[in-house]
Order: sequence, then structure tokens, then C-alpha cells
Amino acid sequence: MAAATPSVSRRLLARLRDVMAGGGSAEERLEKVVHLIAADMVAEVCSCYVMRAGEVLELFATEGLKKDAVHKTRLRVGEGLVGDVAAHARPLALADAQSHPHFAYRPETGEEIFHSLMGVPIIRGGRVVGVLVVQNRTQRHYSDEEIETLETVAMVLAELVASGELVSRDELVPVDGNALLPLRLEGLRLNGGVGIGVAVLHQPRITIRRLVAEDPEIELERLKQALTSIKTALDELFSRPEMRDGEHRDVLETYRMFTEDKGWLSRIGEAIRTGLTADAAVQKVHEDTRARMSQVTDPYLRERLHDFEDLANRLLQHLAGEGGPASQGELPADTILIARTMGPMELFDYDPKRLRALVLEEGSPTMHVAIVARALDIPVVGRCKEVLDKVEVLDPVIVDGDNAQVFLRPPDDIRDIFSDAIRQRQQRAAHYARLRDLPANTRDGESVRLMMNAGLLLDMQHLHDSGADGIGLYRTELPFMARSSLPDVEAQTQLYRKILDQAAGKPVVFRSLDVGGDKILPYWNPYDEDNPALGWRSIRITLDRPAVMRHQLRALLRAASGRELRIMFPMIAEVAELVQARRVLDLEIEHERQSGNQLPVVIKVGTMLEVPALAFQLDALLPLVDFVSIGSNDLAQFLFAVDRGNPRISERYDPLAPAMLSFIKSVADKCTAAGVPLSVCGEMAGRPLEAMSLIACGVHILSVSSPSIGPVKTMIRSLEVGPLRAYLATLLRLPDRSLRDKLKAFAIDHGVIL
Ligand code: PEP
Ligand code: MG
Repeated sequence: MAAATPSVSRRLLARLRDVMAGGGSAEERLEKVVHLIAADMVAEVCSCYVMRAGEVLELFATEGLKKDAVHKTRLRVGEGLVGDVAAHARPLALADAQSHPHFAYRPETGEEIFHSLMGVPIIRGGRVVGVLVVQNRTQRHYSDEEIETLETVAMVLAELVASGELVSRDELVPVDGNALLPLRLEGLRLNGGVGIGVAVLHQPRITIRRLVAEDPEIELERLKQALTSIKTALDELFSRPEMRDGEHRDVLETYRMFTEDKGWLSRIGEAIRTGLTADAAVQKVHEDTRARMSQVTDPYLRERLHDFEDLANRLLQHLAGEGGPASQGELPADTILIARTMGPMELFDYDPKRLRALVLEEGSPTMHVAIVARALDIPVVGRCKEVLDKVEVLDPVIVDGDNAQVFLRPPDDIRDIFSDAIRQRQQRAAHYARLRDLPANTRDGESVRLMMNAGLLLDMQHLHDSGADGIGLYRTELPFMARSSLPDVEAQTQLYRKILDQAAGKPVVFRSLDVGGDKILPYWNPYDEDNPALGWRSIRITLDRPAVMRHQLRALLRAASGRELRIMFPMIAEVAELVQARRVLDLEIEHERQSGNQLPVVIKVGTMLEVPALAFQLDALLPLVDFVSIGSNDLAQFLFAVDRGNPRISERYDPLAPAMLSFIKSVADKCTAAGVPLSVCGEMAGRPLEAMSLIACGVHILSVSSPSIGPVKTMIRSLEVGPLRAYLATLLRLPDRSLRDKLKAFAIDHGVIL
């Protein structure tokens, strides 16, 4: 059966091509098309619904339903089975459609006599522009091949629907009515910094003119050649000096593997064998993948989709013999690039010297293009919903990456504010550079160790230019997430060695793998958990999978051979877990010793304090560790029972609440008494007002992101901590929800620079 399908479909495609290229109005051609499909698929009904303005699907042509219903029957997206197909952008095949809960009966169609229904979305440019349906009187079970065939036909039809001949193009493209007014959009910070420039829309999409092929062999050969050109371009990219090191290289290595993905390539091959051109086959497989993946919430899988998207666009360009999107016309000197999403390689199509910022409709902090943009130091705001509908080419745009906001067509006063902000930023950078080698001491002589958080090799360059005392938290999971498989001991050893080399003697605290929760590794099947933040994550995973932990510890021991090694275990909830982790480390130390490998000269072991329970075991814990670090992000989450990733509530409680500060102060008091160094390494430590409060609580080590080093050091050097500490003791007894205002007032009154 499967072998016969391509020829059926090819015959149909050839006929469709003739109809579409033939004469008559678009509606007449559509009439012929539905007639052809019904006959070819042995269906009594074939209908085509077209999306109109206001998200309404209108019956435009039918074979088998009552003709009076044409232009009368309308369904909202989500309404009835047709609306369901459109809402989810996925096919539906039902032997008994009328018993489906979503079935919406429309008497004018006379459809009550038809029992089975198969519907597929008509997709163009990632948007559903219509729905194609066949129906049968019998309770017919449509096969997967039949669904495939109808999808292929829908793709060919998409060209007709989107041509503007059936409904005006304006109806197909949702535009914002206020397209000329200034607009401020919010998104997600993917990389900080400010960029001012004009909008350039990243439109990699190219129009496919030829959909149906004469000879599949020729098309397969064209596909092969296009793939070869892409691989050659990738090789060229790898030879560039900026690609020598770093996670963006890993990202592109993974990307290179996609060019060899057998499943994807074989699906394109199959589509070619059904009679499509190589271009149309790439587009079809990609549209299918995209429609299905749009339902996927898993962040890792969604990122893979971006990579495939990039690859599909690139293949289409090569097949069409066109250069990249950036090669079409001169790029403005101050380009703000705007895209729905982007693959990691696409950014390299644009001259980085002209790029001021990147704005994406989608995106997540670990997405690959964000990692590459960080390497190129380009501000990025992601999840900026509908920006593409609201911006016009060459509109003036300001991107404020620090505050995750984008201004379209900003008025002059906003523009002035940001131009000033850029100038001030440059001045501040010069000021912080002068502070670089000065100590982080308070005015009354308390010294603070100011460390830096890092997670990518790229971050290491900031260790020296920021003047941080060392790396207080190295999140080792990020490189694991950028790869397609678990790195082996050798690969990890090399990475950790590079980190230590680049630290050039400054201390580095490596945190053992902290995955799970929202940080999912591509090569581990995540369990479906109702509460991933409270689930099988972090140390719970690595204690249950000791081989992973052992390999990482072995790599760390080898990388630090002959040097100092600091290891920190995350998410420890009870002392017994620390003891168990320590035992694994001891086994590895023994293993290295017996193998004759040189060990680190000193090994310091610490724990993160993120789970409140551990604070009630400090008497048992402190004698066992060399240091403790409070992860304030998770601690606040667990202390207040508030999901840190849920924007509706994540801001509900203030870390400057009496409960949080009292908690930290009591931990600090115990650590001081036991002589165990305590740091805070969550986001809280990087904000000057919060950092001031932490120092008043008795915390003398702060680990912050590199851009926070300058502002926090400036605050410390302007602070007299004695009076603040006395004042804090009274504040902590107050019933207030937050002490923020009072602490801020203290800072202003006492000349503390925030
Ligand atoms: C924290 O929880 O504060 C922390 C530093 O760890 P992460 O943000 O990586 O969970
Ligand atoms: Mg944490």
C-alpha cells in the first residue's frame, strides 16, 4: 500500500498543477481543485475553508456539500472540527466525526449524512490560512498515507490561498491598527545592553515558484548539492578565529549534525518521491515539523526546531540559488534585527559591526542564537510578542536589553533618554574600569570579596576586566545543555582545564551538575512531573545516577591536577546528601590516586544552601564543609513557596522581606561563629540595595554576574556598614511585607551610591 501512495499522489499533484496554472478566476480554480481531490481520494466531500479577518474560517469551495453553504458557513478558530484543525495547526482524522465533542452541526451544509472526516491545516509562512477537509458517508478510517497526501495537497493550495486572489492579503496578515504610533513592548532579557537603530526584518522565507517536479532523481540530486553547499559554508565558519573556542562552537557543531539527520532527510526524500520539487519538499517537511512542534512545550525540543528552521531556510536559499537574506541590499549601519526566531547560524549572515540589537518574538535564555549573540556582544530581547506585526521596515527602534523592553518609533524624548543612557553607560564603564583594581572595602573598613558568576567559557573574559576576585559560582550545566550528548570525561576535563587556565590563579567554585526543573538535558528523557522545581532535579539526579557525578568529579580532579579545586554541591536538603556526595568524591580521589594521576594540591568542598531545611542542620553541616553559598533564587522560591519561573507570582514576595533577611542573618551568624566562609550567589547579590542589606546581615562574599561587579563595588565603597547593621536589627522585627523603602531611604540619607 505504502509503495503505491507516491504514484497516486504524483498523479494528483500533476493534475493540480495543470488546474492551478490554467485559466479562470481563483474561485473557479479552487472549485476544480476540490473536485479533483474528492475524485482522487474517493471521498464524497472535499471542502476548502479560507481564513478571513477576525480569525473566521469561511467555506470557499466544496464538492459534495450544498453549494448554498459556500460563503455562508463560517466557523471561528477553535469552533467545530474545522476550527479545531486550525486552532492546533494539526490534522484530524475521525471515522465517526459526529460523535466528537467538538463537532458543530451546520444545517445549511447538509453534512449530516457524512460520518467520517479528515481535515488538514493549510499553512503558509507558519500561519494557518485555511483548512482542507474530505468527508465520507461510511465510517472510513483514513490512513497515515492519506493524511500525508492531503497535507501535500494543502501545501500546494496554500499558494493559491495566499496569492491574494481569494481574499485580500491584508486579511491574511494580522496587522496592528496603530502601526504608526510609538509603542513599547516587553519581552524577556536574553542579553543586556542598549541598541538604537532602524528595523531590519529578518525574512529568510523565499517564495517557491515551482512545486511539482517532472523527475524525482533530478530533485534528489539538487537536494544533495544544496546540502553540500551548506556544509562547505559551515566549514568556512568553523575556520574563523572567533569560532575557535566557546559554547557557540558547540552550538554550531550540533547544528552541523542536523545536516546529517537521517529522519529529517528521509522525510524530505519521501516528499520528493511523491512528486514535489526539492524546494517544495523541504518546505513541506518543515511546515509539518513546525506545526507539530508548535504544540511542544519542552524548551529543548523547541530549540531544536529553531535549528531545523534555520537549516530549512538555508536549504531553500541554496535551492533557489539566492544568497542569504542579508545579502539582499545594503544593511543599515545601525541595524536592529527583528525575527520571529532565528537559528544560530543565521546571525552570521549579518555584519556584526552593523548590528545594534536583536529582537525575537520567541526565545528562551538557553536558545542557541542567544548564546551566539552573547559571544558577539549584541543586546537581545526575546519573547517580544507580535513585534513583527507591529513594526515596519526601517522604523526607528530602541532595544533596552537590560530591562527587556523595545520601543518602536520612539518619540524624541525617549530617544534622547536612551542616547544619554548609552553615553552614561560608557562613562560608568570607564568609572568601573578605574575601580577594577581597588578593593571592595566599606568606608568603615569591612572587606567584601566580590566574585563573579559564570556559566560559559565566554564569561571568563569578564573575570579579568571586571576585577572580580574569582568565580564564586560556575554553573557547569550550561555546556551540557548546548551539546547533543553527554560530554565524556575527556571533553569535560578539557573544558574545566580551559576555565582554570583562563582564571589564571583566581579561585573558581565549580558547581556540580544542576539540571532538572526547567534545565532539561536533551539526551535524558525528562520525567513528566507536576512540580519540577520540587522534583527529581540537581543533586537528587546525580546521587541517583552516580556515574554522571563520578565522571564530572573525575574530570574536575584531572583539570585541577596540581592546582586548587573548589567543588560545590547544589540543592542539598539534608546533611546526609552532602555526606553521600562527599563519599562519591572520595571514591574518585582514591581512583585518581591509584591510577597514578596527580591530584589537586587543595580540594575544598562546599554546599549550596537553597533548601530551607538545611539551615536547621547547620551544627551538623558546618564541621563537614569548607564553605557555604546561599542560592537566593531557589531559597526565595522555597522559603515563600513561590514558583520563580511563574511571572504571575514570582515578584509577589520581596527578597528584602524581614523573613528572608532574618533567615540569611541567622545562617550568617552561625557560619561566622563556626569560621566557615558564607557567600550569596543568587541574583539578589548583584543588586546594590540587596547587596547592601546582605552585607549588613553579615555576608562578606558576594558572587554576582559580571555587569553587576562595578555597581556593587561602587555601593560597597560608599557604605558605612556599622550604623546600617544596628538599624537592620530593629527593622527585622517589623511586621512589614518589605523593608525595601526603609533600606533605600537609609542609603539615600547616608550617601550610599546605589
Ligand atoms: C540559586 O538558586 O540562587 C542559584 C544560584 O542557582 P540557580 O539559579 O542556578 O538555580
Ligand atoms: Mg539554584
